[in-house]
Amino acid sequence: MKLAALVLLVLACGVVHAGDDILGFDAPASAAERALEAEFDANIDAGVMDSWLKSLSARPHHLSSQADKANAEFIAELLDSWGYDTEIVQYQVLFPTPRVREVELVAPTRFVAGLTEESLAEDPSTAVRDTLLPPYNAFSIDGEVEAELVFVNYGIPEDYEMLERYGIDVAGKIAIAKYGGSWRGIKPKLAGEKGAVGTLIYSDPADDGYGVGDVYPKGPFKNDSGVQRGSVMDMPTYPGDVLTPGRGATANAKRLRREDAPTITKIPVLPLSYRDALPLLAAMGGEVVPQEWRGDLPITYHLGPGPARVHMKVAFDRNLVSIYNVIARLEGSAWPDEWVIRGNHHDAWNDGAADPLSGLVATLAEARAVAVLAKAGHPPLRTIIYAAWDGEEPGLIGSTEWAEDHADALKQHAVAYLNTDGSSRGFMNIGGSHVLEHYLNQVTAELDDPLAGVTLKERRRDYLLVNGNDKKKAEARDRQDLRIAPLGSGSDYTPFLQHLGVASANFGFGGEAQDGSYHTLYDTYEHYTKFRDPGLVYGATLARVTGRATLRLANAPRLPFDFGGFADNIALYVGELEELADNMRTQTEETNKLVVDGTFTAALDPNKSLGPPATREAVPYFNFAPLKNALRRLQLAADAFGEAAAAGDASDDEINSLLYTSERLLTRDEGLKGRKWYKHFIYAPGYYTGYGVKTIPGVREAIEQRDYPEVEPQIGVAAEVLNRMAERIELLAERLGKES
Ligand SMILES: [Zn+2]
Repeated sequence: MKLAALVLLVLACGVVHAGDDILGFDAPASAAERALEAEFDANIDAGVMDSWLKSLSARPHHLSSQADKANAEFIAELLDSWGYDTEIVQYQVLFPTPRVREVELVAPTRFVAGLTEESLAEDPSTAVRDTLLPPYNAFSIDGEVEAELVFVNYGIPEDYEMLERYGIDVAGKIAIAKYGGSWRGIKPKLAGEKGAVGTLIYSDPADDGYGVGDVYPKGPFKNDSGVQRGSVMDMPTYPGDVLTPGRGATANAKRLRREDAPTITKIPVLPLSYRDALPLLAAMGGEVVPQEWRGDLPITYHLGPGPARVHMKVAFDRNLVSIYNVIARLEGSAWPDEWVIRGNHHDAWNDGAADPLSGLVATLAEARAVAVLAKAGHPPLRTIIYAAWDGEEPGLIGSTEWAEDHADALKQHAVAYLNTDGSSRGFMNIGGSHVLEHYLNQVTAELDDPLAGVTLKERRRDYLLVNGNDKKKAEARDRQDLRIAPLGSGSDYTPFLQHLGVASANFGFGGEAQDGSYHTLYDTYEHYTKFRDPGLVYGATLARVTGRATLRLANAPRLPFDFGGFADNIALYVGELEELADNMRTQTEETNKLVVDGTFTAALDPNKSLGPPATREAVPYFNFAPLKNALRRLQLAADAFGEAAAAGDASDDEINSLLYTSERLLTRDEGLKGRKWYKHFIYAPGYYTGYGVKTIPGVREAIEQRDYPEVEPQIGVAAEVLNRMAERIELLAERLGKES
C-alpha cells in the first residue's frame, strides 16, 4: 500500500525518469528489455529502407496488377530469409476497374474532360504508366446520366441543410463536390440519399493546390492535372470484399450476388482534377455560393442548378481477383499462443511511395531487426505476426478478409494489433485503444525526434502548449500522459478493433509535410524523398517506435494494459455527449423561436433566395444516469487496478488473458444499429463522416441524427458494455491484490 501511494505521488508530480520500470516489467526485466531495445535500434538502417522504398515503388502496383503480386513475393522472400515462417495467403475478391469514363459539359457551352494526369519530365517515375489505372472511384455503380449541376460544397450533411435554405434540391441533378470535409465515400452516399443521379468530386486548389503552396514538381501540392483516386465503397456499413461480409473470401465462400452488394454506391461517381472541374463550375449559374464555400479557382462560384448540364458515363469490369496477403510468423518462446500482430498494407493506387510504402519499409526494418535479435538468442516471448496486406486501398480488403477468416482464433489469441500506413514527418501521431495509452506514452517518452532534439512525447507536448486551445494547453501542462486519439477508420486496424475487439493502435509521423500527392500519379519515390521525409530519418524513427511497441507487448511478463487512461477518456466522451445534447437543445429552441416569430426572415436580404432554416423538433432531456454510474464504477475499478498493479509484479497466464481479452468486452455480437459488422460500442467510424471517429457511437449518432427515441436505449447499451469492462477490471484488481 505504501509503495502504491509513493508511485501515485511520483506519477502525480509528472516525473518520469528514464530509469523507471516499463509497464508490465519489474526493475531487472525493464533493464534487460531496454538493453534489447538498444540492440534493436542499432539494426534499423535508413539506407536499406530507402533501397526497399525505391524498388517497391518502381511501378504502379494496385490490387490485381502484376507488380502487386511481384511486390508481395519480394516482401515474402525478405521475411522468409530473415527466419519468419512466411506464407502468401490468397482470397478471391470483387475488384472493379474502369472500362468507360466520360464527363462532358453539353450546355450552355461544350467541354470534354480529359480525365488524365500528365507525366512530368522532372519526375521520371511519372512516365512509368503501363500498369497505371486511370483516375476513378472504386465501387461506383455503372451508369450513364445527363443532368444539371448543383454545387454542394463538401457534400456533407450541413451543406445540404444550407442548400435547403436556398430552396435547392439535388434530386435529378448531378452533385459536384469538393474533396475534403469528410471521407470521399460520404459524398456520393449522401448525394444518392438526396436523390442526385450522379456525383463528381474534385480537389479545389484552395484545399489542395496553388492556394496552399507550390504545386508539383516545384512544390508538393496538387498540380492542375492531379486527381485523387480512391474507394467510395460504403465502408461505414462494412469494409472488405463487398460480396462476403462477415466471412473470409475463400475460393468456396458463400457470396452475395453482385447486384445485391449493399456497399457499392447507388449513383455513378468520378473524381476530377481542378483543370477538368474549372469549365464545369464556370458554366454554372444561379445564386453565388456562401462566402465560406468559395474555392480558389479564378471564377465566381455559383450554386446552380444549371445552366451547366453534364453528361457522365462510367462502366467497370467487375472481376473476382486474387489478393496476396503476406503473413510472417515468429513463434514466441514462452507464450506461443499469445499473438502480437503488426501490419501495414502493400498495395497502392499508383507507385505508392508515401501511401503505403513509407510505412511498409519501416515495418520491414522492424521485422528484420526483431529477427536479428531472435537469431542472437533473444526470441520474442510471445508470437509476433507481421502482415503486409493487399487490397487496402479499395476498402481494407486484405486485412478484413484475413481477420474474418480467422475470427475465432484471433478472438482467442490476439493480444493486440499495431498498424502503420503512409507516414511523413512532423509529430508522432498515435491513435488507439485507451487501455494502451500509458504504455504508448512510455514508448514516445524514450525516443528522440530525429531533428528537434527533444523526445517525441516532449515535442508533442510543446506543440500543444504553444498551439492548443485552453483545454488542450491545460491538459498538456497537467496530465502526465498525452491522450492518444480514438480510432475511426481509414486503415487496416478497423477489422481487428471494430469487428473483433482486439486492442489496436495506429502510428504515423505527420503535420510538417503536405500530401498533395495522395492517391495521384505523383506519389512517387522522387516526391517522397524530396518533400516528405528526405533521408527517411522519420521513417527510421517510426521503426524504432513501433519496434518498441511490438517488443514490449511480446516480452512483458504482465501485459502493459492499464485502465486509468481508459476511464479518463470515457469520462471525456460522456461529458461531450451531455454537452452535445444540451447545446443542440438550446440552439434548436433559439432557432425555432427566431424562425417562428419572423425574426430570422426579417434579418435576411429580401432580394436573395436564402431563406430561414426549417424548424426542428425540440430536443428532449435524456437520462444519462446509467452511463454516468457505469463511468463511476469504471473509475473506481481503474484506481483499484492501478494500486494493485503498482504494488507488485504478479502475473500469470490467466491474468494476461483477462487483460488482453478485456477489449472484447466493449463489443457486442449484434453490432451497431443498422451496421452489425461494427461491433465495438466505444469506437466506430461515423456513419456520415467515414474515417472520422464517433466515440460511444450508438449514443452520439442517435443524438446527432436527432433520432431521439433511440438515445436512451443506446445509453443503456453503452452502460452495459462499460459495466462489463468495470467488472473485468475489478476482477483483475482482486487477482493482482491477492498475488502481490
Ligand atoms: Zn494507405
